[in-house]
Amino acid sequence: MTATNRPPIKPLTGGALGTPVCSTHMKLGHSSHRVLQAALGHTAKAIQWLAPAVCVLCRQTHPSTEAICDDCDQHLPRNQVPCPHCALPSAGMTSTTTLKCCTHCQQHRFYFSETHAPFLMQWGIRDLIHLWKFQHQPQLSPLLASLFIREVFTPADLPRSLVLIPIPTQWRRQLQRGFDHTRVLAQAIAATYPHSLTVKPWLRHTRSGATQHRLSRLARWRNQHERFAVNAKIQGCRVVLLDDVMTTGATVNAAAETCLEAGAKQVTVWCLARTPEPGSPLTRYHGGLCNGEAHHEPSLRKPNAR
Ligand SMILES: [Zn+2]
Ligand SMILES: [Zn+2]
Repeated sequence: MTATNRPPIKPLTGGALGTPVCSTHMKLGHSSHRVLQAALGHTAKAIQWLAPAVCVLCRQTHPSTEAICDDCDQHLPRNQVPCPHCALPSAGMTSTTTLKCCTHCQQHRFYFSETHAPFLMQWGIRDLIHLWKFQHQPQLSPLLASLFIREVFTPADLPRSLVLIPIPTQWRRQLQRGFDHTRVLAQAIAATYPHSLTVKPWLRHTRSGATQHRLSRLARWRNQHERFAVNAKIQGCRVVLLDDVMTTGATVNAAAETCLEAGAKQVTVWCLARTPEPGSPLTRYHGGLCNGEAHHEPSLRKPNAR
């Protein structure tokens, strides 16, 4: 999807300004409704003039009620040529290149069938995720949900009747952050999604992953086994696992394996951003807003890091 035909993202305000209230619409006649709508539109413009929106990324004022300005939106780092299986970005390949599985997929057995990760974990989306997750800004969830849906699907190819299962957040992390970020994101996606999409928090951790940092790279992959348990209702379902960031894929892979063992028909993965492989030309860090809390998913290339 190009920048020019990109539909607008959902306003941070939830679209309250300029949007008629349904119950009011039901009670008022058509002409009264038009008058009310015009009045609300003028009020929104007056509020915008008196207190213009500030982009959460560049902190500049901008002429809309959206959470980020058009310029920041256009410069978000998009995952333009992802592996169709694990969404690892392929540096230096054109969008017309026919991709099969990447070397990462050839080295590991993945239990999910495909991955949608529209952004790279770089400046812009990385800062939005860090603000949202580490600086307690759950109100950014509708923005992130809208960005994900807009980048991944066109209205014609939105899949229907999905079961969306958020990767569970460990209780210690939930306490630190004040909210279960993947569950909140799943609910925001369901609220934005135009078709039937049910959020089912069917996965749970069976043990803490706190000792992961002591393990070798290979042991980490093995250690993911039996890390999750899933509700038996998953039997026969096609499910989507939702996480915010995919680094090695070890976490979602363990969850996918658990789902298949419990009888799920198919597992796909949705995540906001994919981390390029270390050493890739796509790997660049432009600073960020992280408060020092490491991402929960272990890195294959940094066996001593958590
Ligand atoms: Zn901006
Ligand atoms: Zn791959």
